[in-house]
Order: sequence, then structure tokens, then C-alpha cells
Amino acid sequence: MSSRAWLALTLVACGGATPVPAPEPTPPRLVVLVVLDQWPQWAFEAKRPALTGGGFERLLAEGEWHTGRYPHGATLTGPGHALLGTGTPPATSGIIANEWWDRGAERVVKSVEDSAGVSAHFLRVNGLGDAVVAAGQGGRAVAISLKDRAAILPLGRAGVPVWYAPKQRAWISTQPHAWVDELNRSHPIEPRLGEVWQPLAGLAALSGTVDDQAGEVGEKGFGPTFPHDPATTPSPAEAVYAEPLGNTIIFEAARAAITGEQLGADGPPDLLVLSLSAHDYIGHGWGHESWEAWDLTKRIDAELGAFLGYLDERVGAGGWAMVVTSDHGAAPLPELSGGGRIVFEDVEDRAEAAARQLLGAGDWIAVPKAPYLYLTKPARELLPTQREELLAAVTASIQTMPGVGRVERTRALGGDCGPRTGEALELCLMIDPDRSGELLFLPKEGWIMEERDERLATAHGSLYDYDRNVPVIVLPPGRVAHAPLASPSSTTIPMTDISPLLARWLGVAPPTSLPALPAPAPAAPVTPSDDPS
Ligand SMILES: [Zn+2]
Repeated sequence: MSSRAWLALTLVACGGATPVPAPEPTPPRLVVLVVLDQWPQWAFEAKRPALTGGGFERLLAEGEWHTGRYPHGATLTGPGHALLGTGTPPATSGIIANEWWDRGAERVVKSVEDSAGVSAHFLRVNGLGDAVVAAGQGGRAVAISLKDRAAILPLGRAGVPVWYAPKQRAWISTQPHAWVDELNRSHPIEPRLGEVWQPLAGLAALSGTVDDQAGEVGEKGFGPTFPHDPATTPSPAEAVYAEPLGNTIIFEAARAAITGEQLGADGPPDLLVLSLSAHDYIGHGWGHESWEAWDLTKRIDAELGAFLGYLDERVGAGGWAMVVTSDHGAAPLPELSGGGRIVFEDVEDRAEAAARQLLGAGDWIAVPKAPYLYLTKPARELLPTQREELLAAVTASIQTMPGVGRVERTRALGGDCGPRTGEALELCLMIDPDRSGELLFLPKEGWIMEERDERLATAHGSLYDYDRNVPVIVLPPGRVAHAPLASPSSTTIPMTDISPLLARWLGVAPPTSLPALPAPAPAAPVTPSDDPS
């Protein structure tokens, strides 16, 4: 089946040959993009049989279920959310990772930081918020996430990004909004920070495994096994990222946005983006095979079902359209797949030792920031022949580390991606020559990368199918219910198609067609979230 066959809902075949447009259904009043952060297709397929009677089954009874495929190997939150909103890969969006080494500033920068605080300053292209506002029809665009970057990057510079600020224990945005203030007053998060995460019944049978499965490490100070009591963690306000409460408050904020911004009430279609960040942290801490992942998925199923019912009441059953998908996948637990873990600091130590053997004492390696290794300024300023020798020595030193799959010169891989095909194209699309490191390193299949003091059950950020293939569930306008789907179609959707599809539903030009970037919105005077997940 062609990769474009998934548009069949709005295209009908003419005599089995050239497709012609079907009559357009009534435009939706509200377009919703739901992102389950770190949601591999393999993990959803494994859980699908157990998901009956909730939100997922309704999605699968009203929508199409396909495999979405990221075109590049920077399978991380920042690049994924930027691609969902802009329709462009890192080579175009400039969002190569969640954070990278800035050669000018000589330090690590975060994907949504700027000199005044937090904004889409580093995004080189427009997002869906920009497209909605540029259309000038009065449509609204709101994005809500626990993570600042997941709220900001899909929208671009316009629209209303809202995210969780653990220091304030509250929702914040780039500008004041009365409904956000009211949400913080009416649904305070602080009183719920002590709630203990108790396991749902039946997790052993659902998961087919034990609670303390090998490889589970916990997250945000929670241990490997239930119950998870925030009072035992260093910061209950930070623990919100890694417990079901993190999703509950997103759905609360979504309802507040719908009433506060009058989303879907009248006039031109509005956009609402919801990114469920806790799904990512719980994947990192316990893996998708864990009791915790099963527990969270069952809770999302119920909360999503209730939210779909709320949309029916508020906007009308035929008044909204939706895409449910993810920013990236994740590897199976290395203990189950036969893979392993690479520690970033070990990579840096090996690289620095090789550099010193060649050049003598000095600080030659700035930092390994997945998937790149960056040289310091003194190393970059070496004579070209010496720099080449340095890169060759460093490559040789880390190439032999267990689990390291490939180490390559970034310069040879990036640049004009147009003429490239296959894996050369997939690598090129993840590289921004200004921002990517001198060397690109990727793990072997089944291997994940972690920091020495932040152990992970699983992770993501490679070119393997488990990181690139995510569910795409499409509920278009004018849909007709059918028997709930038990498995995905054989169609693979390029994830760059999501942004233009949402723009079409919204009745606006796709972000890639906008002529120029609008003036940046003022940055929020807050520090960007410091979590690299
Ligand atoms: Zn992650």
C-alpha cells in the first residue's frame, strides 16, 4: 500500500486509478493533537488487547491506526515535537536534540531557552501556532505539556504554550492568561503532591512479569517497585513528572483551556495540543514492559475516554477531529532484548584519554550530548591536520566500546540532504551543521545510552524501528464508526505528514508554506526545565 493511502478518508479512488477529492466533510471546530511522549508502536501493540472499554478502544472504533515513521535518528522529545508542529526534521527545524553544545556560548543550551528565559528562539521554521495565527481568521492555538519544549515547539512563536513549573507547583505560559491563573487557583497541584501511586489490580497478569523486573531503576527518586510515595523522593513537585498525576493535570488543564480560550466554540477551527510527558519518564524509569507502564496506560485509557466524552459535550461529537501519536519510541528493556547500556561519561573519558595521548594535557572534549560528541574551542582551533588526527583517534577509541554501533564525522553526513537516499538521507535529516557535534555516535541495536548518575530502564534516540515507529491514530472530520481495530494497518506514514494534515483540517496553510517567521513572542522569564529526557 502506498504511504499516501492513509489519506483515503478524504480521497476516493476513481475507477481504481487516479484519486479525486471526495466532498470535504464539514470542517471541525476543534482539532486536537494528543502526543503520548515516548510511545513505541511495539509497546502499544502489546497492550492493545487489554485496552477495552476506554478511550483507546473508542479511538480505534472511530479512527484509522497506522505506523508513523520518523524520517531521522534524532528520536527525542524536542526534535519530535518540533517535527509534529512544523512538518520538518532537525536538519530544517534546527532542533537537533533536547540540548546541545553551543559553540558560541561554549556551554550546553536547551532547545527552548533564550537570553530572557524560554521561547522558540532556536526553532528555525514556523509551527502550527504560527500557521493558525498567520491565517488571520481568529483561530486559537494552545499546547499543554509538563515539558516546556513539548508545549512550545509544536506551536512555534505564536499561540499559547502552557507547561508545568515544579518550582511554582503550577502551570505557566510565556505570557499571563486569566484562565491559567484561574486553573492554578481552582485545581491547585500542591495539595496532591503527597498522593501515593498505588498499583491497579491485575498488573501481574496484564504484564506477565514481576514488579521488580531486571533493568527497572525507577525515576525522579521513586524506586523500582510499587507503591510509589512522593514523600520518599527528593522533590514531590518533581515527582509529578513520573506519576499518573502528571497526566491527570494535563487533562484538567485541557478542559480549562477549552473553556478559558473558548476552543471549538465558534468561527474558525482551533488547535489544542496535549503532550503527556509522564509517559516518557515512566518509560525511562521502568520500561514499557513494566507494571508501572501498564498501570499508567490503563489510567490514560480511562482519562482519555472521559476527555473524549467531554469533547462530545462541549464541542459536539462531530465537531472535533484528532490525531493521537508520539514524538518518538523507545527500546525494549536491554535485559529482555539482549542489549545493554552505554554511559556518556565513559564515552567522554575514553575520548579525552585518546585526545591527551595524541596532544598532551588539555581539555579537548567539550561534552558528549547524544548523539554527538563536541570538541572544545582549543581542539577546534588546532591546525586542520592535527584536528583530523584528533578526530580519528577519538573515533577509534570510542568505536570499540561495548554497545557503540557507529562513530562518524558529522561533516561528511550533513549539509544538502536533497541528493541523498536511504540511510545517508536519514542521517543527513538529523544534522544541523551549525549545531551538531563534530562526531556522531549511535548505539548498537538494543543498546541505550544513560548518564552515570541518572540510570535508565530504557531510552531512545536511534535509527532503529523501536525508536522511529510510533502509533498514528487518525480521527478525521466526518468519520464513521466501525469495529474497533485490533492491529495497525500496513500503511506507514511519514511523520512529516502530520503537520500538513492538521493544517488542512484547520483550514490554514501548512507551516512550511508560510513565507517568513513572525516576530518572536516575548520569552517567559523562567528558567527552562532542566531535565534532559
Ligand atoms: Zn525521553
